[in-house]
Amino acid sequence: MRLTEKELPRDLSKLPVESLKGVGPSLRNKLLKIGIKTVEDAVFHLPLRYEDRTKISSIDSVTPGRAYLLEGKITQIKVMYGRRRSLLAFLEDPTGKIGLRFYYFSKRQQENLKHIKKLRCYGEVRQGSTGPEIYHPEYSEAKIQSKESKNLTPIYPSTEGITQNTHRKITKEALSQLRMFPLEDLTSTNTSSSLTESLFYLHQPPADANTDLLNEGKHPTQQALSLDELTAHQVRIKLLREELKSLRSPQLSAPSDLYKRAIGSFKFQLTNAQKLVSAEISKDMVKGSPMHRLVQGDVGSGKTVLAALAAVHAHENELQTALMAPTELLAEQHLATLETWLRPLGVDVCLLTSNVRGADRKRLIKRISNGEIGLAIGTHALFQRQVSFKNLGLVIIDEQHRFGVNQRLALRKKGAGENSSPHQVIMTATPIPRTLSMGFHTEMDVSILDELPPGRLPIKTSVLSSDKRDDIIAQVNFACQAGRQAYWVCTLINESETLECEAAEKVASELREKLPKISIGLVHGQLPSQEKNKRMQEFKKGALDLLVCTTVIEVGVDVPNASLMIIENSERLGLAQLHQLRGRVGRGNEASHCLLLYKKPIGAIGRQRLDVMRNSNDGFFIAEKDLEMRGPGEVFGTLQSGELRLKIADLQRDKKIAAKSREVARQLLTQNKEKAKRLVNRWISNEDKINLA
Ligand code: ADP
Ligand code: MG
Repeated sequence: MRLTEKELPRDLSKLPVESLKGVGPSLRNKLLKIGIKTVEDAVFHLPLRYEDRTKISSIDSVTPGRAYLLEGKITQIKVMYGRRRSLLAFLEDPTGKIGLRFYYFSKRQQENLKHIKKLRCYGEVRQGSTGPEIYHPEYSEAKIQSKESKNLTPIYPSTEGITQNTHRKITKEALSQLRMFPLEDLTSTNTSSSLTESLFYLHQPPADANTDLLNEGKHPTQQALSLDELTAHQVRIKLLREELKSLRSPQLSAPSDLYKRAIGSFKFQLTNAQKLVSAEISKDMVKGSPMHRLVQGDVGSGKTVLAALAAVHAHENELQTALMAPTELLAEQHLATLETWLRPLGVDVCLLTSNVRGADRKRLIKRISNGEIGLAIGTHALFQRQVSFKNLGLVIIDEQHRFGVNQRLALRKKGAGENSSPHQVIMTATPIPRTLSMGFHTEMDVSILDELPPGRLPIKTSVLSSDKRDDIIAQVNFACQAGRQAYWVCTLINESETLECEAAEKVASELREKLPKISIGLVHGQLPSQEKNKRMQEFKKGALDLLVCTTVIEVGVDVPNASLMIIENSERLGLAQLHQLRGRVGRGNEASHCLLLYKKPIGAIGRQRLDVMRNSNDGFFIAEKDLEMRGPGEVFGTLQSGELRLKIADLQRDKKIAAKSREVARQLLTQNKEKAKRLVNRWISNEDKINLA
């Protein structure tokens, strides 16, 4: 859609991004994936870091660990045969020479380099085997008239299929719109310059801007925007809390006989933590105001038991429960577990996913709406419009981070009557680090399940280079022959899901060939869900020794006999996600092992991160470390969800600003509520926008 000059709305938030020059339907869809829908979103898509390509440095002035723009001639070029074959070229200027090293190169590139008279290149200098070297520099032939850039070069967070150049072009277009239609300053927090000026500055910092400060996110302009952003989040939380306070919920009577029978029917004693948290949940539900409780319990701490008890409590009061899981696999597993526990107590349990179709679906929906079903388990399918409950009293959401606030609100509306809301429990194994929870998740009460069932042995974790693959395969062989079961997890973060599935297929056939005596199954996201389930069930029953899989098994899958896990490309996953994955082993009473494989070369930080995994099994500790070590170099999609999706602020770095934002939000809400709401929508991603109507 292209609008004529006259039709252009003055409000960039109403101007679709495809109105920008160069944005067609395919790019539009890609942009949508990273939350860019409007021109306003585009101007708020801020660089992660900056590169200084404004001046050419002399080769003798470089120090390892920093990036430089260099220019000179190629004096020598040769193929090196070390541990890994590489192409080495020497770049020389009047002050010295430096090696440019390529591990991936073509014959053509090699020839090409020989013919370049004057070469300009950019990259980070490292200490290499010949002295300072640049690995895989960006380079081009330096033409006589080629100029250094006037501005620092912004690097944007991106996704598959959008290059940095595309980002720069879109931003340029978006900024020219911003020039015509400056943004309204909603908070008076930008004292020195307007919001619009700040945005210009951050997309195109002048050559003399302090690059280090900018890359640390501590530039005053960034800090001012951080305050704006954090204020927006504070406002949103305050508004949500206000809305929730105005609602009523069914008032349950105290837990009675059936509840006690449920506890007695488990094959185990509740842990003290389970006793405490289940009591907290029951207490919330007898109050009459809506429960909003977040239960944080490490992987394997036994959260499903809490869900079962809460559902029984609701059932005693003739109320229905909905349990939502993030994947079908998990929903089905919950069905299997909860049915065994609850059916003997007279609670009817069912599963509703998008796989239930036709007459079956109709029948199920009917049984939910006439109240026969006590506990409905499902995925997103549970809160589609066609599904209505007779008397929904409790909503349990497992693994909270996959659901947005709006989705939770949609479920709330399934409760009985206006201004009434079912109680809500959200269970997550991804602990929210204390730094984050301070004031930013407080629309909920928090319970902590900080005890594992007795008898669990800590998982032993090793960090290994993928060079050792053959040894590792031999280990898997040995373990499986000895009757243990293993997971082999293939990950390719930032690549497409299709590629990830292909990678898993390749690994499965490789392992089948190398380990003919082991029975190997494959599970990935693109298999039909019946197929997935069949494999999982086979693995659970022990018919498969080794399960090759993608991260689809990340959350909640419970196969107690599995005691070995191999994770490929572990250096590319977030620590919280690794912890989740690893939690699939160590669920039985046998000592478990997790091997984290990484590809060389791995940086110091990457290595440190994996060491955190090796040294700790404590989800809370790991989450804090994750936050601490995860620089702003994070790319969309690898962001651990369940956290705030911040565009510029960083709660760890900007603690003081976060504290201040609370005050600013309060003031703004008392002074001008409408403005406050506009601020929220300016900063917060689509799914969590609030309704301004
Ligand atoms: P998570 O918190 O990761 O969802 P689950 O609810 O899947 O954990 O429980 C993990 C395993 O521990 C299950 O096999 C469950 O039956 C078992 N379990 C739960 N509570 C206890 C307990 N108090 N004692 C022994 N085993 C328990
Ligand atoms: Mg679970």
